[in-house]
Amino acid sequence: MTSDLSTPAAPDGGTESGAVLDGNAAAGEFAGILANDPTTVTVRCGSCGATQAFGQLQAYLGGPGTVLRCRECEAMVARVARTPRGTWLDISGSSSWLFLPTPGPA
Ligand SMILES: [Zn+2]
Repeated sequence: MTSDLSTPAAPDGGTESGAVLDGNAAAGEFAGILANDPTTVTVRCGSCGATQAFGQLQAYLGGPGTVLRCRECEAMVARVARTPRGTWLDISGSSSWLFLPTPGPA
């Protein structure tokens, strides 16, 4: 008798690890991150892939918004614009932001 051991792994629930909820379910997670000191953040440029500390980015102030550009390729990595309707945060030019662990309560 022959048996085929090369069958694909049985679907044991590994492909869908959790239910999809709406964004409100993640609000607490994001609120904690955005409350951190941004100068401790490391940002990866979405254009050239360079990683640099927030403070190493090139800042352009005084325009319609505050723009941060990559030090290596000068691509825009983040922008904040405050308008009467609210504050816009555009991080589409970055591929990731690394937030360091926050120290515990003093
Ligand atoms: Zn870059």
